[in-house]
Amino acid sequence: MEHTIKIEGGATFVVSTDEDTLLRGALRAGIGMPHECSVGGCGACRFDLVEGDTETLWAEAPGLSERDRKRGKRLACQCRPLGDCTIRVRCADEYKPAIPPRRGLARLEGRRQLTADMCEFSLRTEWPAEFLAGQYALLYPPGTEGTRAYSMANRPNADGLWQFVIRRVPGGRGSNALFDQVAIGDEIPFDGPYGHAYLRDGIEREIVCIAGGSGLAPMLSVTRGALARPDAPPVHFFDGVRTTADLCGEAMLGAGLLGGGRLSYTPVLSAPGASPDWRGATGFVHEHIERVLPHPLERYEFYFAGPPPMIDAVQTLLLHQHQVPYQQIHFDRFV
Ligand SMILES: Cc1cc2nc3c(=O)[nH]c(=O)nc-3n(C[C@H](O)[C@H](O)[C@H](O)COP(=O)(O)OP(=O)(O)OC[C@H]3O[C@@H](n4cnc5c(N)ncnc54)[C@H](O)[C@@H]3O)c2cc1C
Repeated sequence: MEHTIKIEGGATFVVSTDEDTLLRGALRAGIGMPHECSVGGCGACRFDLVEGDTETLWAEAPGLSERDRKRGKRLACQCRPLGDCTIRVRCADEYKPAIPPRRGLARLEGRRQLTADMCEFSLRTEWPAEFLAGQYALLYPPGTEGTRAYSMANRPNADGLWQFVIRRVPGGRGSNALFDQVAIGDEIPFDGPYGHAYLRDGIEREIVCIAGGSGLAPMLSVTRGALARPDAPPVHFFDGVRTTADLCGEAMLGAGLLGGGRLSYTPVLSAPGASPDWRGATGFVHEHIERVLPHPLERYEFYFAGPPPMIDAVQTLLLHQHQVPYQQIHFDRFV
């Protein structure tokens, strides 16, 4: 069924409620509705309902605070319209999808063990893998409520190949279902691409990529995308992991990229006690960056992805301590 949504003082779009939430309907229609994670975690897609009614898919989504709920706020990524609606939300061009997301089925073609808890998943769609390096897709793990966001690790391609680096989260419903319940050859629902932390065009500043844990995936994509450009500036890749057992970034980048002279790769261990022979960098990855990158930090373009505490620490370092302009930082918080 389809419903018409009017944005107060703005555009009108149609949402197909069989599949789409308000957010995804808006993005599919090319509207710049504010959003970040698309899975209920961040609250960036909060809106006010002016007229009509919606159903909420995940009532406890952490993206809304108690105060938001009391004030009647809703999350566009968790709401489906029950009829025609009018909503209040401030849209902006920066949120317009560069590539309209597309829904369909993706077939699992391969799963490769990278570390004890991370695998590379290779999925294939019947349409080209059109995305910008650094974006993510929404997967529907079987038997799991809601969707899960996973960042592409490869580069866009005409062959419909979408590669992901996924960590099995202890007790996590979606990630465990992807590891245990999807066999090679199985198809799962897929929707993408989404996200704004993608590799920017035409910027000459040196690139710094900072990965925290499975934040490796989009950083691989950004690095691969940047180095594929003939005029690419140097890329400094920092891989924040706990122990040597979690390291796979160097192998994933491969000798081809690392040997080209334009990429440096620095693993940083936050729990080095478990790796007594380790002679490399230790500590929190943001602290290491501040120590080793030639200053001022505003001479770089920053991309980073990982768990919320790491994202907060890197943001504080760059924005507050070193006054790096906001337009030069691009990140995904893995909520
Ligand atoms: C933009 C982005 C990119 C990401 N990229 C990667 C990546 O490349 N690799 C990787 O390993 N991880 C990535 N993640 C994290 C990933 O999406 C999952 O959060 C993680 O795999 C844990 O999922 P889980 O289902 O195992 O854990 P769970 O604890 O079961 O669920 C975790 C998340 O699922 C969502 N969720 C939970 N319950 C519901 C519900 N009832 N309805 C709707 N949604 C629900 C919420 O967002 C919650 O935070 C990314 C996250 C984001 C936001």
